[in-house]
Amino acid sequence: MSRVFKFGGASVKDADGVRNVERVLRLHEKDPIVVVVSAMGKTTNALEKIVASFFNQTDEWTVILEDLRRQHHAVMEDLFPRKEHTVYQEVEHVFLQIKLICQGRPDPDFNVNYDRIVSYGEIISTRIISAYLNDQGWKNTWLDARKLIKTDANHRFARVNWNFTEILIQQTIQADQNYVIQGFIGSDDNLHATTLGREGSDYTASVIAYAINASDVCIWKDVPGVLNGDPKVFNDVTLIEQISFREAIELAYFGASVIHPKTIQPLQRKNIPLYVKSFLNPENEGTCIGKGTHLSPALPIFIHKTDQGIVKLSTRDLAFIVEENLSLIYNIFHRLGARVNLMQNSAVSSRFCINNDPITTPILMDELKKHFEVEFIPNIELFTIRHYNDEARKSIRKNRKVLMEQITPSVWQVAVSGG
Ligand code: ASP
Ligand code: MG
Repeated sequence: MSRVFKFGGASVKDADGVRNVERVLRLHEKDPIVVVVSAMGKTTNALEKIVASFFNQTDEWTVILEDLRRQHHAVMEDLFPRKEHTVYQEVEHVFLQIKLICQGRPDPDFNVNYDRIVSYGEIISTRIISAYLNDQGWKNTWLDARKLIKTDANHRFARVNWNFTEILIQQTIQADQNYVIQGFIGSDDNLHATTLGREGSDYTASVIAYAINASDVCIWKDVPGVLNGDPKVFNDVTLIEQISFREAIELAYFGASVIHPKTIQPLQRKNIPLYVKSFLNPENEGTCIGKGTHLSPALPIFIHKTDQGIVKLSTRDLAFIVEENLSLIYNIFHRLGARVNLMQNSAVSSRFCINNDPITTPILMDELKKHFEVEFIPNIELFTIRHYNDEARKSIRKNRKVLMEQITPSVWQVAVSGG
């Protein structure tokens, strides 16, 4: 039975990262594997900047694109000493395509441009990785996710068309072969590129695993597995060995960055376990997300989200905000793809802690101002503790100014002003 391995941007950020992918695959030589890969390093961020520049018709994109080209070229020179290698042409061709798009006219819909351009990051990384693995004797077929992952035309946040996707994947992927495919990207009915939301590659891995009834999914990361907090933010974090599907869905919902929120559901439906392991210590056990114990060991889980903002809304005529306006407000948030993480109401005003997305927030503010008095506080951090205790809460409260707070029997959340 096939397995699905996913390597994120950090694991393939340079030539050594790509070599390490081969090392990991060698440890599992007996198993046929579908390898799902993200764009290298910070490529997606750079491509987002290119889209913004193209859309606003500035020429900043030329410099960023050339930088990206140079970075990928350096990786290739390290991995492919032979200059005649076809991978050079393949990658060059992609950069040329991006350039041609940027020299043309942008589509009036920002998100269409976004998907057209940003999706190339994964095309480039998989071209390089597939070619390198084949050269090293790990024989694999490069697949184009735009031909297999079918979605609606909701650009930048596309939803998978399950029936269609399942059929295409089952027709293409054979149980005894190895493959390399892009995460994060797909296409709509008109074959226009779409993307599944930032960090969407985990989701792709789970969609594929579902379609082929994979034995498991393995996400290779730069941490030993799922920890009970981000080691960059919290001291003394501990590796969690086992998490139930249900607990994992909750954690992802609250923003634990280890797993993309939508990733777990398809796996749960088919009871396919998901392992999170370290690509630096690939022999170690890591974390298993699957059926069974909710959480082992049972510890408070700390989740930290930056880039938050608080939207304060009040009605102009002192009308009650909850009864009369809540559906309108949520409609606007939903339509513009703004994610609400925390909410609090008084009689005539509401506060929402949202992901402060540089593209979405200004549009959101304009829209809300049509109906309400609006105030926006940027630079907010959101802390969530699942299975909290007093000590855990105290550690977060210390030296921080709390602007919103919410508590349930299992979850404690505070929005604080950023440092
Ligand atoms: N490359 C995309 C991103 O950075 C998708 C992913 O990494 O999962 O958001
Ligand atoms: Mg990425």
